[in-house]
Amino acid sequence: MKDLSRRKRGAPRKEDRTKRLQEWKPRTQLGRLVVEGKINSLEESFAEGMKIREPQIVDMLLPNIEEEVINVSLVQKQSDAGEKSRFKAIVVVGNRDGYLGLGAGKATQVRNAIEKASVDARLNITIVRRGCGSWECECGLPHSLPFETVGKRGSVRVRIIPGPRGLGLVASEGAKSILKLAGVRDCWTKSYGSTRTVPSFAYAVFDALKKTFEMITPKDWV
Ligand SMILES: [Zn+2]
Repeated sequence: MKDLSRRKRGAPRKEDRTKRLQEWKPRTQLGRLVVEGKINSLEESFAEGMKIREPQIVDMLLPNIEEEVINVSLVQKQSDAGEKSRFKAIVVVGNRDGYLGLGAGKATQVRNAIEKASVDARLNITIVRRGCGSWECECGLPHSLPFETVGKRGSVRVRIIPGPRGLGLVASEGAKSILKLAGVRDCWTKSYGSTRTVPSFAYAVFDALKKTFEMITPKDWV
């Protein structure tokens, strides 16, 4: 696996989104409700328990969404017809304010792999709960996470620990991109396992952040 992300980073994709929206004819109930203006936020769609099956839903409800290519690698597979190589892209999307998605895509062309990953990331969008879980800080502002969280993917495990205001992101480059797009500004990260496998590492970070939303804290019972 060869890392090509440096060279391929920053490929223009804004047109893809505009084109996607212009040509959109909703196929799902949620898509129709969004177009009709009956659902105006992703929170509402989550509260209704509706799954996002069309990327345009996210583009429409989060017009300021940003995306970044985390990794592009060349995947070679031996088949009867000989060697087949495809590109695999990992893309993160987020609004820097609590919404985050991570996705993967494979294709024979880099651009198509990125496009597929960017659609997949939108379909995986989740809410990241933020807060100030740092005992050194206790400011109550949503600059970090409300509590420590652990994520897993394959053999990789990532711990994200709330940090005081001004600490910044103590994390590797890949993790920083993900944390930034989620809107987390101060935290420590610790990782275990084969963390150089970028896709697994990115998914472990995403898993940890996703858990902040899935986890119910004693505060919520009150
Ligand atoms: Zn704080």
